Amino acid sequence: MTGPKIKARVEELRELLNRHNYNYYVLDAPEISDAEYDRLFYELKALEEANPELVAPESPTQRVGAAPVAAFGVVAHTTPLLSLGNAFNDEQLIAWYNRTTRLVDGRRFQIVCELKIDGLAVSLTYENGGMTLGATRGDGYRGEDVTQNLRTIRSLPIRLGKDAPSRLEVRGEVFISKQGFQKLNEERSREGLQLYANPRNTAAGSVRQLDSKVTARRAMDIFIYGLGRSDGDAPDSHWETMQMLRELGFKINQENRLADGIEEAVEFCRTWTEDRHKLSYEADGVVIKVDSRSLWEQLGVVGREPRWAIAYKFPAVQATTKLKSIAINVGRTGSLNPYAVLEPVSVGGVTVRQASLHNEEDILRKDIRVGDTVIVHRAGEVIPQVIGPVLSLRTGKEKVFELPKVCPVAGCGGEVAKPEGEAMSYCTNSVCPAQIYETLKHFVSKEAMDIDGVGESLVRVLLESGLAKDPGDLYSILGEDLLALDRMGEKRAPNIVAAIQKSKERPFVNVLFALGIRHVGLETADLLASRFKDIDALASSTEEELVKIPAIGAKIAQRVRNFFDQESNRRVIEKLRSAGVRLEAEKTLAKPAPFGEKEFVFTGRLESLTRNRAEAIVKEMGAKTSSNVTRKTDYVVIGDDPGSKHEKAITLGTRVLTEEDFLKLLEEVNNGV
Ligand code: NAD
Repeated sequence: MTGPKIKARVEELRELLNRHNYNYYVLDAPEISDAEYDRLFYELKALEEANPELVAPESPTQRVGAAPVAAFGVVAHTTPLLSLGNAFNDEQLIAWYNRTTRLVDGRRFQIVCELKIDGLAVSLTYENGGMTLGATRGDGYRGEDVTQNLRTIRSLPIRLGKDAPSRLEVRGEVFISKQGFQKLNEERSREGLQLYANPRNTAAGSVRQLDSKVTARRAMDIFIYGLGRSDGDAPDSHWETMQMLRELGFKINQENRLADGIEEAVEFCRTWTEDRHKLSYEADGVVIKVDSRSLWEQLGVVGREPRWAIAYKFPAVQATTKLKSIAINVGRTGSLNPYAVLEPVSVGGVTVRQASLHNEEDILRKDIRVGDTVIVHRAGEVIPQVIGPVLSLRTGKEKVFELPKVCPVAGCGGEVAKPEGEAMSYCTNSVCPAQIYETLKHFVSKEAMDIDGVGESLVRVLLESGLAKDPGDLYSILGEDLLALDRMGEKRAPNIVAAIQKSKERPFVNVLFALGIRHVGLETADLLASRFKDIDALASSTEEELVKIPAIGAKIAQRVRNFFDQESNRRVIEKLRSAGVRLEAEKTLAKPAPFGEKEFVFTGRLESLTRNRAEAIVKEMGAKTSSNVTRKTDYVVIGDDPGSKHEKAITLGTRVLTEEDFLKLLEEVNNGV
């Protein structure tokens, strides 16, 4: 590029970044993915580095966030709240370490690894033990006064113990759990309000409310990760400072680690890149900090970034692309599942061509139209999701989506109906080819009957040839029936028959799972198999009996009942019985208890279940419960007004779970995460 062209591009990038900063920091409504923002940012940074005469103090590369909004009341920070430099891979992290080591004359230093929570940075001031001020980061020098709103966060102490210094400032990240985020968006959609794009924007939007009652209604949480100005003594080690703050009552992330060298820090980043989907909140990276705070002073700050810390960013999980069309897949239960057909786009190193769209209601609620530019999110191994459209890029040519009135599966044409109170629409034809195909596919799958050699294509052939109209038919298939099929070798046919026959030995729990009862996954099948001695006992159980089993809710109970009430399902069971498939429980199947020997203490009022029921659920899963918090306690679950047990847990560094964290943990354990 020539000089004038570079200058023009620099100006263009600054204008673009300023616009996106405004959308992100002031409106809490980004229009592009973070990865795309980072690409523009680093393009500008590179151009400025190569052409230092173009650097200007007002450039977005030199500034943090956006100016505070006056309506909140503006607060000047005593020491600035900075941004962080980024490392996008191991090499960049190691390069930072080598550079830092050179700057401290080759001295070895320890490193603190902290999860980088994707929320909103705030500063909190305590005077004589009481919280007197809470402010957003704003532009790093001046933030917004959000004291009243921050006071509504339950995990933030309003008063500190008597050992607190007379004046203390701490910094932390306000966030909302993934579950809280989902619940809030569901509520907003019911009220017809615009949805939040991600938990970070929700946290920011919730704290930056002029009415603190709004913040109070949302399940906000906070992790403290830094000490600002303090009148008291503080250790030189950042790690120890954090332990000191924990003792004062602040919530410090238990996953954080003190690493001996850069190798350990790299390992921490690798582990969490893999495992971050297990967290109940969104983290977008790891913040790596030099432990010694006296070295912080020596290392100093360049522009908007301290040299003693760096943010290792996890690979992007969001990107924007074009929605080419909306296609429909019909599931095992007959549900019509719309999915997005996308212009291929790379999200975190994986090319994404399709993404989930949930259901028609969700598409209309998010106002996603065919032809829109959409934000796509991919987390862990989960199917990518379409978050929503980028409204400002609409051309007017986009088309509103309508679900077909008849089943789109070839050869079906069944009527589509939407049961009351359900978000999904279903094909009502009980012999819909897609449903039977999915049922058979599920039945033969590994975790179900594990029938080797019967894959997707053979299932299709068996269905089309009329050899198997339901799972029960599989057991009467003979070698000669198979040999009559196209491309079936002499050797393959007997192997398939043998594999089908062998599956009769499958444990009862797998058979129950294989039946494909809606909402009955392996864990639930396991619970049912351990409660009922055989299929007949289960088939004659009532919904009232079923809900008495811990972890079985009304929805599952109803589905189980519906399944056995259907004549066609009873016929399948009879076919399985006459074939000799195992339909009774074996004693040896007891699985190791997932909470084996862990100790739980429940304190405070829980919202969604009683304390007795919560205790029964964890005991069922192998845990012990106690009414006292001791060093032996593994988890303290806190509800409303948790009292002294909560404080004791903080003092002992015991893992504290909110009700939401607890439910999430149960879900993870139930899903075998
Ligand atoms: P940053 O998010 O890269 O890092 C600094 C922030 O990390 C701190 O302010 C703090 O809030 C947070 N943090 C979390 N845990 C921490 C810990 N343990 N220790 C210290 N800090 C911790 O920098 P930034 O300046 O806040 O934001 C820049 C980023 O925001 C960009 O890289 C981009 O991803 C995103 N952004 C996106 C858009 C958009 O339109 N999509 C616009 C602007 C910014």
